[in-house]
Amino acid sequence: MRVLVTGGAGFIGSHLCEFLVEQHHDVTVLDELSTGSVANLTSCLDAGSVRLVEGSILDRDLVDECVRGKDAVFHLAAAVGVQTIVNSPLQSLRVNLHGTENVVEAAVTHGVPIGVTSTSEVYGKNDADGLREDADRILGSPLLSRWSYAAAKGLDELVAHVRAIETGTPCVSYRLFNVVGPRQTGRYGMVLPRFVAQALSHEPITVYGDGTQRRCFGSVYDVVPAMVELLQTPAAHGRAVNLGGREEISIRGLAEKIKDFTGSTSDIHTVPYDVAYGHGFEDMARRMPDLSLAHELINYTARYDLDDIVQSVVADAQRAGQRDPLLTAP
Ligand code: UDP
Repeated sequence: MRVLVTGGAGFIGSHLCEFLVEQHHDVTVLDELSTGSVANLTSCLDAGSVRLVEGSILDRDLVDECVRGKDAVFHLAAAVGVQTIVNSPLQSLRVNLHGTENVVEAAVTHGVPIGVTSTSEVYGKNDADGLREDADRILGSPLLSRWSYAAAKGLDELVAHVRAIETGTPCVSYRLFNVVGPRQTGRYGMVLPRFVAQALSHEPITVYGDGTQRRCFGSVYDVVPAMVELLQTPAAHGRAVNLGGREEISIRGLAEKIKDFTGSTSDIHTVPYDVAYGHGFEDMARRMPDLSLAHELINYTARYDLDDIVQSVVADAQRAGQRDPLLTAP
């Protein structure tokens, strides 16, 4: 297949490119290199197996040019990370709404199957024990910029599926639950790489809120092959599908696990949300996926547990020699 990966220089995108190259697909990346980086694609670019087009998904003509003639599009380009969303809510909304609309329009115009990356954030504050894809969304006030990501991604799914149905284009949206793994940066807020970098440098580990909030972390090595397989599975077309892991842990528990794992002397500090993210931040108490739809469609099960994930992230951070120093944690 000739495949376009938007956001292919990002964390998940670059793993997806590596996977597609291993499967002998011809891969083009469209990335503006704002939060992504060429370094993430080093192995693919060195081997000459990926073509990188540097540009924005807001550039409609460029998007159209990149999509034309492809057999599949994986749309991952987005403004990501709670820190990014809180710092620049409007630009994030623009990229996540108009950028996605451009990619979807190009895909349906040229009849190219499209996988759209969405997020568990679309469920908002729904903390059910196993969120099914048809679960209700409980979003906070539209005046809180913190919810702009969830709002935009929900609309992205709507636009993608409506246009796909109208035009008969195969389309899947992926609701990713805290996907982690090597090469993820902590610079935009993501907790696991932040804790690992803090632990390795023996700086305080910054737990936001009281640390009782719970998450299920999923391995990028489980999620990426599932994204590809779902787009190749007709029964998945027209569906939103949860992807991630099943093992739940509190954020304080995660801090303790990483401290133990690295033998770090770091203290664990509690940081109020207002200090971490600014006034009026609302966190989700819990976010846990029901993965039965993915299992039903493609026999998905998470092969990597949290210990495997932490081990690979720590090893990668050590190999990189702290190439990704943290922003000074608040
Ligand atoms: N978090 C934290 N310390 C950090 C960064 C994040 O305690 O340095 C918390 C954050 O408030 C949230 C959880 O870790 O409760 C997961 O944050 P992340 O941004 O990785 O993903 P989210 O689930 O919020 O999308």
